[in-house]
Amino acid sequence: MISRYQLFINGEWVNSESDETFERVNPADLNEVIGEFQKGNVLDAQKAVEAAEKAFASWSDTPAPKRAEFLFKAAQLLSENKGELSRIMTREMGKTLPDAGADVQEAIDVGFYVAGEGKRLLGYTVPSEKPNKFAMTVRLPIGVAALISPWNFPIAIPAKKVFYALLCGNTAVLKPASDTPLCATKLVEVLEKAGVPKGVINLVTGPGETVGMALVRDKRVRVISFTGHKDTGAVILREAGLKRINLEMGGKNPIIVMDDADLKLAVNGVLWGGFETSGQRCTASSRVIVQQKIKEAFEEMLVDQVRRLKLGNGLDPKTDIGPLVNKAAQDKVSKYVEIGKNEGARLLVGGSVPKDLKGYFFEPTIFTDCTMNMRIAQEEIFGPVISVFSAKDLNDAIEIANSVEYGLSSSIYTNNINNAFVAINKLQAGLTYVNSPTIGAECHLPFGGAKHSGNTREDGPEGIKEFTELKTVYIDYSGKLQKAYID
Ligand code: NDP
Repeated sequence: MISRYQLFINGEWVNSESDETFERVNPADLNEVIGEFQKGNVLDAQKAVEAAEKAFASWSDTPAPKRAEFLFKAAQLLSENKGELSRIMTREMGKTLPDAGADVQEAIDVGFYVAGEGKRLLGYTVPSEKPNKFAMTVRLPIGVAALISPWNFPIAIPAKKVFYALLCGNTAVLKPASDTPLCATKLVEVLEKAGVPKGVINLVTGPGETVGMALVRDKRVRVISFTGHKDTGAVILREAGLKRINLEMGGKNPIIVMDDADLKLAVNGVLWGGFETSGQRCTASSRVIVQQKIKEAFEEMLVDQVRRLKLGNGLDPKTDIGPLVNKAAQDKVSKYVEIGKNEGARLLVGGSVPKDLKGYFFEPTIFTDCTMNMRIAQEEIFGPVISVFSAKDLNDAIEIANSVEYGLSSSIYTNNINNAFVAINKLQAGLTYVNSPTIGAECHLPFGGAKHSGNTREDGPEGIKEFTELKTVYIDYSGKLQKAYID
């Protein structure tokens, strides 16, 4: 018996106006249907926005510390259900259990962190230039938020968007990725159980081109928070009109390995950064730039480790790498492997769909002798494929690292502090790690990218800025007209 799930609009679980549904299948076990979900349409999106708009007055009037209490409760419920939610995620999108557990844990941590912000929401006061005049800033909600999320962090990303938006006094419509509707549904169930008032959070599953686009175009939506592919981000920028638009997009993230680095540490970092979540992370370490002198030794060590990685169902504790999210992703990775071979890159290991597994698996793959202009060096593959480059020195390595349109994460392995600081200053990226790979962001620090990776920062104090208007307030208690820059 396949479970059927619904939309959540104005505090009610309802069917779509379309009367259509879609199924999601476990990518590690194609015989398992995860559930049947509503194929929402434009009308559903509009009803959800209407509900959010109606709920805005009362929710934005609720003091932030009170709003925070609902979110604290939601974080507690997530924590109590962490095991079950992790297993659901593993079945829905293929992450290994520890990886899925980390996703849920991030959502829990964000929930508690954001709830704490309810007692801050800091503005600032500064002296006015005039006597008997007071100047300060306050943070106010923006309005209805459209939250559009990808499938690769199916609880953490929707949760962070919802927690920040709601804490700041906005109401929201969540449109999750069609590959992971169940995780999003479970998150909204938790928010409902935590007592979030009706209309404050709404959920509409269904295709991005219809539901997502309807939210993007709706004039009643005042702020968009989108995480996903850069091409989708570009469409959203074009279609949204004049509203606040926060975009988090892809990456082609480099690890630089200098000849003074601890090679074993660097190899472990590359394995973790390149292949965790099967390489399906915006911050995945998809390029490795190695100083010439150590390249051969480094590759030998790396290939030896890659051959030991075990592909399989994420529920099996012996599995190191789960499947890709769907058939299209598997085909895309296969296509890029062919492109790499045709471009003259040398395949060191992997490169095929394993024959003995039934899901959407792909072998961990390493290309070497890559050059900057190759497509596998420039484009986001979003799978377990790493391209290795050779660099003469640090300047050469930084030039290669910066040669892509993306600028999300970056890393350098070195034991020379001068190299580390040059890299910190010169790498064009929103994040730089020293002696650890490009993944592993912590939820209380800003997260986001430069160049085509995004136009905002989520998380920590920056996350509040995404969802608030900063109002400047002047209070003149002099009892006379004081003219700025004249008197
Ligand atoms: P997509 O851009 O395909 O989808 C993201 C979301 O946008 C989904 O909910 C999707 O719905 C929706 N969507 C699709 N088309 C439209 C549209 N025309 N209008 C409005 N919404 C739309 O990305 P993926 O889900 O495939 O995620 C992978 C991408 O996300 C990668 O590029 C990755 O790097 C990036 N990413 C970035 C992160 C960051 O923080 N910088 C973190 C994680 C991922 P539907 O699923 O129904 O198509």
